[in-house]
Amino acid sequence: MVLSVIDVFAENFAFYKQYFGYMIKNPAWNNPLYMVFFICVATFIMELTLPRKLPYSPVGRKGFALDIFYVIFIDFLLMLFGFYAAAKAVEYIFTQTMGIFGVSDFLIFDITQLNGAVQFLIIFFVLDFMQWFGHFLLHRVDFLWHFHKIHHAQEELGFASTRHFHWMEYLVFKPLLFIPFILLNVPVSSFFAVYLWIGLSFTFFSHANIRVNFKPLNYLLITPETHYWHHAKNIPGKYGVNFASVLTVWDHIFGYFYYPRNKETPQLGVDDQAKIPTTFVGQMIHPFREAFGKKKKTSSKVKKK
Ligand SMILES: [Zn+2]
Ligand SMILES: [Zn+2]
Repeated sequence: MVLSVIDVFAENFAFYKQYFGYMIKNPAWNNPLYMVFFICVATFIMELTLPRKLPYSPVGRKGFALDIFYVIFIDFLLMLFGFYAAAKAVEYIFTQTMGIFGVSDFLIFDITQLNGAVQFLIIFFVLDFMQWFGHFLLHRVDFLWHFHKIHHAQEELGFASTRHFHWMEYLVFKPLLFIPFILLNVPVSSFFAVYLWIGLSFTFFSHANIRVNFKPLNYLLITPETHYWHHAKNIPGKYGVNFASVLTVWDHIFGYFYYPRNKETPQLGVDDQAKIPTTFVGQMIHPFREAFGKKKKTSSKVKKK
């Protein structure tokens, strides 16, 4: 099995390199690399032209250059450097292990039999809920919070801040998103590409430093109005508020929606801000130190509240 896992890794490592080259050379509406690029440009133009939510400038703000590097790292380099291959190897170990116990068919319902619109709605709601739940876990579980804190230790936000996160977060999201794919036979189809367009647009948009008032829409969809409260240094609630990726319905259902209309945008960041390194390498190492280091208990309960 060890040799097969190495083979799976090597095969997928080579495959992704080729696939990456193909994606670069073939711009298309459902090509994730171009999606991210287009959404970055669109949200950046919004920041440059629309009124600002907070008074700092889009380019001169704290962390702008680092955030751009994070976008390149998360969306362009991470998968190329073997993350995709590692995820495939883990998937292989999982299916093989289940096979040993005689479980080989994971499908509980094949949604591809349904009509297109219904399929799309199911995919959209299920994936959006998984994103909500994964985000909630990142706040709820101390070990995960050490890693997610890197995203929250940003004192000035902009569109690119959404990609400023530790790659370990993928260890939560990838398996959670993998579940509907195998249980419901969610196809990697044009429906998934539409979901990606919507999900990515909202995540870049909700971090953009723009003052736009969507009024009732703030109660339905994540916007800078509500997501900035998610980044507040001091927020009500034990674990935080507004975990939504696109739909706020999950926050309403589980009691985490927070939108005080008469309050100023809060100060952003985390309680132990001074301890968080300001370099990329430092931010990659710091959570491991916190999670496995001796002082683990003192910093684990830091302001998720
Ligand atoms: Zn968060
Ligand atoms: Zn955020």
